[in-house]
Amino acid sequence: MVEQGGRHSRVVLVPCSFQGHITPMCQLGTILYSKGFSITVVHTQFNSPNPSNNPEFKFQAIPDGLSDHDISSGNILGTIALLNVNCEVPFKECLAQMVKQQDPGDEIVCVIYDEMMFFSESAANQLKLKSIILRTTSAAACISRLALLRLKAEGYIPLQDPMMQEPVPRLHPYRFKDLPISQLGITENYLQLIINSYNTRTSSAVIWNTMDCLEQSLLAQIQQQYQVPIFPIGPLHKLSPTSSSSLLMVDTNCITWLDRQAPNSVIYVSSGSVASMDKKELVEMAWGLANSKQPFLWVVRPGSVNGSEEIEVLPEGFKEAVGGTGCIVKWAPQKEVLSHDAVGGFWTHCGWNSTLESISEGVPMICRPCFGDQRVNAMYVSRVWRIGLQLENELERGETEKAVRRLMVDKEGEEMRQRTKNFKEEVKLCIGEGGSSYNSMNNFLELIKSI
Ligand code: UDP
Repeated sequence: MVEQGGRHSRVVLVPCSFQGHITPMCQLGTILYSKGFSITVVHTQFNSPNPSNNPEFKFQAIPDGLSDHDISSGNILGTIALLNVNCEVPFKECLAQMVKQQDPGDEIVCVIYDEMMFFSESAANQLKLKSIILRTTSAAACISRLALLRLKAEGYIPLQDPMMQEPVPRLHPYRFKDLPISQLGITENYLQLIINSYNTRTSSAVIWNTMDCLEQSLLAQIQQQYQVPIFPIGPLHKLSPTSSSSLLMVDTNCITWLDRQAPNSVIYVSSGSVASMDKKELVEMAWGLANSKQPFLWVVRPGSVNGSEEIEVLPEGFKEAVGGTGCIVKWAPQKEVLSHDAVGGFWTHCGWNSTLESISEGVPMICRPCFGDQRVNAMYVSRVWRIGLQLENELERGETEKAVRRLMVDKEGEEMRQRTKNFKEEVKLCIGEGGSSYNSMNNFLELIKSI
């Protein structure tokens, strides 16, 4: 469906300024470009994407007003709240300028913005442009966030310790500990974020990086409450395999190391781009991995340990003890890693991209969520789809070793691997001709072509 004879309209994309949001937005851009649209990415100065990864796009930075302190605070929700205040006017000015200078035949057809960058919408409205929301988290996360509003009204929040294992009323199969909330309660920022990110305001549609084979009934439930169509078009990374948008330098040497390992023998360990742990946890994790005697590829990025930018966070004697059994990198080509024959398991924080990438390659998971929607995804992986196990207690080396062996060696792990491989086949059907994501994508393209 690549358009012949040049491009005829432009789509403006507004990603949220974190890796897990920039990636799916750039993937969407790559897909739309392949269908004949020109792409402009409007982004903050903070975490600005590298234009050389997508030379076919135009990139336009807007001032975000974040101070060094805001950036280093690690308060993601606070940062997103600030961006929504600070970027509204610069985005309006930027978009107005783009409209003023646009060439005939290259007019902006719509603005597609990340669910967290809701400031984009008023600018689009003012310029009489249609806006569309891209959701980069799971449908389950959306439903659970919404349930928080009800639970707050019913007096369950802040959560009390004794009830954490209890089922959440009218939200099967959640326990209170699976909810995307810290035990301290809900801050005003978070409450506002939930309301804003769930609300579709005046947008024309919602596109979603998920698919029917995973979340059909949840999507149907959400669709009933929305006035505008939902298009589940995921997993986006499978539709744009060449798209790359890493903010950190990718270390590809680990692929050579993987080439030397036996099929399904390696556990890949990564906690995504923002999650961190304390030093004690990292030490227990390290010795658990070493004691499992299973080959591992571990991403230890700067910032993996709370409050520490130092690189050498691994315990003394660890590297010598593991020798060639382990490979440690600061940032891996994750999609390539997960599709490598040698990789048989993924120790993950259950960010939504990582979860989708693992499922799409048939790799079962050890889930160690840190915050927010990661808990919801971990619950679905371990208890609903049964394609992983969740480490729920304090990290301790004996438990870590046991979990690695359960997934990589035991029959239980093999059964999870088989179930994940079944999902991999279902994902292929979803994105193949006539599949649900394929059809959704075509319907979505029809919609933007009709604007
Ligand atoms: N990723 C990567 N290399 C790494 C670790 C992560 O390329 O070493 C990518 C991963 O493939 C995914 C993204 O970073 O696309 C992380 O997104 P996710 O939603 O899983 O987690 P977040 O970083 O948002 O918590």
